[in-house]
Amino acid sequence: MTTTGHELDLIKQHLPAWLETSRQRAGHGMVASYIPELSKAPKEALGITLIGADGECVTAGDCGIPFTMQSISKVFTLILALMDNGEDAVFDKVGMEPTGDNFNSMLKLELVQPGIPFNPLINAGAIVISSLIQGASPAEKSARALEFFRRLAGNSDLDYDLDVYRSEAATANLNRSMGYFLKDNGVLVGDVEEVLEVYFRHCSISVTCADLARMGLVLAMGGVDPVSGERLIPRRYVQIAKTFMITCGMYNASGEFAIGVGLPAKSGVSGGILTMVPGKYGIGVVGPALGSKGNSIAGVHLLETLSHHMDWSLF
Ligand code: GLU
Repeated sequence: MTTTGHELDLIKQHLPAWLETSRQRAGHGMVASYIPELSKAPKEALGITLIGADGECVTAGDCGIPFTMQSISKVFTLILALMDNGEDAVFDKVGMEPTGDNFNSMLKLELVQPGIPFNPLINAGAIVISSLIQGASPAEKSARALEFFRRLAGNSDLDYDLDVYRSEAATANLNRSMGYFLKDNGVLVGDVEEVLEVYFRHCSISVTCADLARMGLVLAMGGVDPVSGERLIPRRYVQIAKTFMITCGMYNASGEFAIGVGLPAKSGVSGGILTMVPGKYGIGVVGPALGSKGNSIAGVHLLETLSHHMDWSLF
């Protein structure tokens, strides 16, 4: 039996009990409600899917519930923008540093010259990234992003949750002000409302843990889909994306997550977490109750448990 096979057997054996222990944390968290539609998510839910390089899959808990990608999508729009424009053009418009501020803060855009967003995973950065996706219209840009996500997930049925899309578009005063501010600074080029439409759409793509795990697996394997053998992302762009996931993927708790789990990861306000064990597994987690820093409280606990028992930390 391969080492990975043995490890997966161990995980299969213990995962249900570890998940139930972590689930108890959900009571201490809160489901996001600033996008009204998200508040309908089941607070006590917790699910996980792991997929190995040979396609073998281990699941536990509520892994089948659908949820929207939200900020997790920012990793993949960054990759698409890099593939469309190259590194120089992208890093002309967004920086490479963590902010220490909230994901939706505008503070440093005014305080720190030249007024470009600090990184592509905060909202300001991701909105600029949405403006860099190639396409003749917002619809074409969104269609290209959706198609790219479908290929990475190996799921041609991936689609938008239109209720969440409309709910965010109707209430996004802060993201809207950020877009106009960036436009005024000359960082965002194009029509602000059109760029925001692309941004809200990719945030509202509906997935399950299995979709996140497949997308994570492509990153874990350096950009190659191990199931089809096809290279979907240039290796260099995977390296860039994974570095951002380590330094800013878990909001202001990225340092804490690097110490507790030690794997590249990205979370979203719907309670999803995409992570991976490089060379081995893609992992998708959902747990809608969020802790004070905006990450799934039970999901982070479960990943800490797994990483600790399997000795997965990269550090
Ligand atoms: N669509 C969400 C927003 O812009 C994404 C935030 C997140 O998941 O962190 O507020």
